[in-house]
Amino acid sequence: MSFFKKLTDTAKSTANTLSSKSQELYTTGRLKIEQTQIEGKIKEKKTQLGDLVYKAYASGQEPGSAATAVCEEIRDLEKQVAELDQKMQEEQAQGQQAPGPQAAGEQQPLPRQDSPQQSATAGVNCPRCGAMVTPEGKFCPGCGNQL
Ligand SMILES: [Zn+2]
Repeated sequence: MSFFKKLTDTAKSTANTLSSKSQELYTTGRLKIEQTQIEGKIKEKKTQLGDLVYKAYASGQEPGSAATAVCEEIRDLEKQVAELDQKMQEEQAQGQQAPGPQAAGEQQPLPRQDSPQQSATAGVNCPRCGAMVTPEGKFCPGCGNQL
């Protein structure tokens, strides 16, 4: 079964390559390249899986544990692709968090809300314009609002 032997060797070398690369510091560009490479490997594995299944079918057998092993490798590779996606998103988010030139010093003073007609003397202020009205008055002298 030279096919299975070859498959195992490929899987080992794949694992070694990935574990040594994960020690490095990445930039988004390199992450993208790595992701593309892994996606290529996934396609390769799927082709191998197809071969495996078909060969088993052609010889009247079940695909068996060899096919399961390839499926597990594909699942691991897809997990790595997802992890790279997350790393790239984190790096992009960090880039966007950098403070812009207009972050500070742009606050404008709020306009004062005090009504010029407000007075400290006893009485009632018109709810519409704030003018002072006598408690007996039915209409505001300032705006004519019915009280
Ligand atoms: Zn009024």
